[in-house]
Amino acid sequence: MTSQTLEVIKTTTHKPKPDPEALGFGKYFTDHMLLIDYHSDKGWYHPRIVPYEPLTLDPAAMVFHYGQTVFEGLKAYKDHDENVRLFRPEENMKRLNRSNERLSIPTLDEKETLSYIKELVRLEKDWIPTAAGKSLYIRPFVINTEASLSVAPSKTYTFLVILSPVGSYYSEGIDPVSIFVEDFYTRAAPGGTGYAKTAGNYSAAYKAQERAVEHQRSQVLWLDGLEKKYVEEVGSMNVFFKIDGEIHTPEINGTILEGVTRKSVIELLRSWDLPVHERRIAMDDLIQAHQNGTLEEAFGTGTAAVISPIGILDYKGTEYTINNNKTGDISNRLHNAITGIQTGRLEDPFGWTTVL
Ligand SMILES: *Cc1c(COP(=O)(O)O)cnc(C)c1O
Repeated sequence: MTSQTLEVIKTTTHKPKPDPEALGFGKYFTDHMLLIDYHSDKGWYHPRIVPYEPLTLDPAAMVFHYGQTVFEGLKAYKDHDENVRLFRPEENMKRLNRSNERLSIPTLDEKETLSYIKELVRLEKDWIPTAAGKSLYIRPFVINTEASLSVAPSKTYTFLVILSPVGSYYSEGIDPVSIFVEDFYTRAAPGGTGYAKTAGNYSAAYKAQERAVEHQRSQVLWLDGLEKKYVEEVGSMNVFFKIDGEIHTPEINGTILEGVTRKSVIELLRSWDLPVHERRIAMDDLIQAHQNGTLEEAFGTGTAAVISPIGILDYKGTEYTINNNKTGDISNRLHNAITGIQTGRLEDPFGWTTVL
């Protein structure tokens, strides 16, 4: 993609802003959106910000039939001085292209695309909620728009970005959640799409999520697809365990999603001189640590919830309570440090934040 001029068409009808206390997650959308088209003859072209509106697509558009689509998720925050901040957005751009490559979608110019996203966020900065725990969620995604039922990557795609003011992801907040360890359904298998943020991974997970809810648990802990022995992720979050004073998290192996929050948590913990082991973690070893009394803490990490402590693991009909179902010290410390850096409340010694 050669450098192109961003076209901006502003809306004349602004939507009313939603009640900040009733935002939920991904229910409200701002006044504008960003689009960039792709054609195999031209590459990515015509970047533009336009009023938010429904898309018109041919019913044969391939995205509807074969799910050739990828997405990203990151947040914009407003600090006390009304500056707008993004958290490690370059990481999201890199991951978007890793997902694109896995799904045979043409990659985007990361710098240029990010500069357009920043333009959109600047234009919509009045939509960024300021209260604690609230932010503007940024959802970039790519769809295959070609009208054809032939099963093959297409000639035309559209990249879009929509924005949504959001509250806290979990109604339970930073209180511990209870987790159903899924030992039947599989999220990802070696050689599959587990490391890509692509729609099919999520629709294929609903069944397990339903099963968790039937068991009165709020999320699923995924095991590896081959043997159902090793821990992978929790819902749409990466997962960490504190065992005997040290932190353990599944290694990046092609089936788990490489979270930006995961990466930041590892870097933070190491900066605090806490050992972090990225390794294969057997469910049986966790149960054993629980029986020994050395499974001290567990938590999930992701952009939406930041840190989500795990209070209960429900595995093969047995309930394992962790840290008396209370939020642990490491979870609290990490939550405070990351949200502090994201919102400008704390100094950012890592250079993770971009101020717009
Ligand atoms: C997005 C996502 C994560 C978390 O990634 P972050 O970059 O930290 O938000 C973890 N697992 C899955 C399956 C995801 O989709």
